Amino acid sequence: MTTVTLIPGDGIGPEVSAATTRVVDALDAGIEWDLHEAGLPAIETHGTPLPQHVLDSIAKNKNALKGPVTTPVGTGFRSINVALRQELDLFASVRPCRLFPGVPSRFADIDIVVVRENTEDLYEGIEFERDSPQLKKLRGYLEYMHGFPIARDAGVSVKPISISATTAIVAFAFEFARRHKRAKVTLGHKANIMRFSDGVWLETAEQLALNYPDVPFEAMQVDEMAMWLAWLPNDLDVVVLPNLYGDIISDLCAGLVGGLGMAPGMNLGKDYAVFEPTHGSAPDIAGKNLANPIAMILSAVLMLRYLDLGEHADRLEGAVASVLGSGAIKPADFRAPGAPSTTTEIADAIVEAIAS
Ligand code: NAD
Repeated sequence: MTTVTLIPGDGIGPEVSAATTRVVDALDAGIEWDLHEAGLPAIETHGTPLPQHVLDSIAKNKNALKGPVTTPVGTGFRSINVALRQELDLFASVRPCRLFPGVPSRFADIDIVVVRENTEDLYEGIEFERDSPQLKKLRGYLEYMHGFPIARDAGVSVKPISISATTAIVAFAFEFARRHKRAKVTLGHKANIMRFSDGVWLETAEQLALNYPDVPFEAMQVDEMAMWLAWLPNDLDVVVLPNLYGDIISDLCAGLVGGLGMAPGMNLGKDYAVFEPTHGSAPDIAGKNLANPIAMILSAVLMLRYLDLGEHADRLEGAVASVLGSGAIKPADFRAPGAPSTTTEIADAIVEAIAS
């Protein structure tokens, strides 16, 4: 038996998690779930969205399957996703975007992997609230040191990019590309404008690329990358990005392969792994049995591969591919004509395909 921490999350999280555990259980892969609440339900029961027992469980089991959680706005709670990634040093976010036959898309044969730095950049949480005494001090200091006038009605977020974090994620991207025999690595940046943050990112990556002469490498401004992805996405293969650009570009790539309901992900560190879909808690459709569970089911495929349960991963991925390819299901987010398939019906079809 392998024990995995299961965090259903909130919003559509419990619905897509239930669908996912059903299909994984149908594989008989020897997975046992260690259930823990985080997000909105944990605020009600424990007064915090990320209770210590969640971290303890992941520390014990080493891996977790997680549904989306809402980031409460204006409550003083920080994002539990960011907190989890920082607490467990899950420095690499990997979001494979592959188009399955039968899924509506403007393009064909999309197979892009977004590798995103997960711990620093504008998401590190160094922020100065508008009108705060701390920002007043910072404004005075910057004016004195650098002659920078920061607008009196501005708020400020700080963007740290270090050589060490860049080295870790870019080396990860090269190793990934080499191991999976991918065509090339493309690094996104904006070093021409942010010379001292993205500049570190670009220079560090260019140095590191010299250690991987067998993996073709190119660097590209992130706005140009967005243009290529919308125009000729097949020209890109593995893309590696700092935290904020990676978040945006991975949603863009999800849009190439059928939308957020089709985009799985994993967060990896040296010691722990957390598998979760790219999408959020989708409060607009929560509780309606309308969410597409495939992004979370494909996250479970990534988890099974990571746990060396490759045969089970292939069976599950094959079952997903067969129900999509046969047109047997119509997830609501595909916006196909006629009544959409419910979350439960999608799970039923995949369980049936596993059994056949
Ligand atoms: P979202 O991803 O929840 O939803 C964006 C749109 O996509 C909505 O229209 C939603 O209905 C649709 N959608 C998303 N997943 C879907 C699915 N599986 N099936 C069908 N449709 C789906 O993004 P949002 O509305 O910006 O965020 C809602 C909350 O989720 C916020 O609090 C945000 O912070 C949080 N969030 C959490 C995570 C995470 O837990 N990893 C990731 C992103 C956002």
